[in-house]
Amino acid sequence: MYNNEPIFLKPVFQERIWGGQKLRTEFNYEIPNDKTGEAWVISAHPHGPSIITNGPLAGKTLADAWNENKELFHKKPDEQGEYPLLVKILDAADDLSVQVHPNDQFARELEGVPYGKTECWYVLSAEEGSELVLGHLANTKEELEQMVDQGEWDKLLRHVKVKAGDFVYVPSGTIHAIGKGIVILETQQSSDITYRVYDYDRTDAAGNKRQLHLERAKQVTTVPHQDAKVDQTELVNGDLVEKKLVEEQYFTVYHWQLNGQAACEMTVDYLQASVIDGQAALTINGQSFELRKGSHFILPYGVREYKLEGQAELIVSHE
Ligand code: ZN
Repeated sequence: MYNNEPIFLKPVFQERIWGGQKLRTEFNYEIPNDKTGEAWVISAHPHGPSIITNGPLAGKTLADAWNENKELFHKKPDEQGEYPLLVKILDAADDLSVQVHPNDQFARELEGVPYGKTECWYVLSAEEGSELVLGHLANTKEELEQMVDQGEWDKLLRHVKVKAGDFVYVPSGTIHAIGKGIVILETQQSSDITYRVYDYDRTDAAGNKRQLHLERAKQVTTVPHQDAKVDQTELVNGDLVEKKLVEEQYFTVYHWQLNGQAACEMTVDYLQASVIDGQAALTINGQSFELRKGSHFILPYGVREYKLEGQAELIVSHE
């Protein structure tokens, strides 16, 4: 089995009532409609698995590769468990619903799925004055339940302004919402469990509101809210500046700024990478691959050394 080439992946697009056209205008993707909210760009999740576009696995899904070619990820052939991470780009042309995700334990107990959802966001672009919801202002569980039951959203929800380049860590149990005008790259546990708390009383064309999940949301929300502390460090390797955005239980995420050349060594089993700006060449054993804004790939275990050359910005992560 080949094990020493990057594995390039094709995004899976998801229509959302809050979606827009920036995945076309900012990323040049051929989106299926003008309400495209999400591109699942590195995904083995059954609700939208990425397709491999190069090499002998071309046409297979990332989930197939994970299940059938464990050596790519330095796992034992009989190792159980699903691909752990999911990377998305989200275009919020309108406010997303206010929501909360369970941790692993609640996900198993309440939903019978393996993973809860801790996520983090790198803000790719934000219109002037954009803000998101991060956390709440209730001091006790009783206060939280009361404010939710009485719909006191102005009192409950904590709003934060953001701009391009900001990074937000959102552990499971955190009430959150991405606001109108924001485009983010999200790195998260591979889970699709969302408890909707508040949807701005919006209705669809038929006059129906989307379902809320208040009981479960109250059950899994962390009280009181505390902003997670993230320790960010910077490493310079040749012309590559590698900034660690977060290192936590489920994932470590970096921002890479390449302005020239760098010789890199792999220090983890496999690496996920998304090019968010610019263009570069990735060279492995004398073979070059073109990277440009909107490329997403995995460096498998067989790649131990590689070179980068160009002007590019990437978000890189591993489990
Ligand atoms: Zn979320």
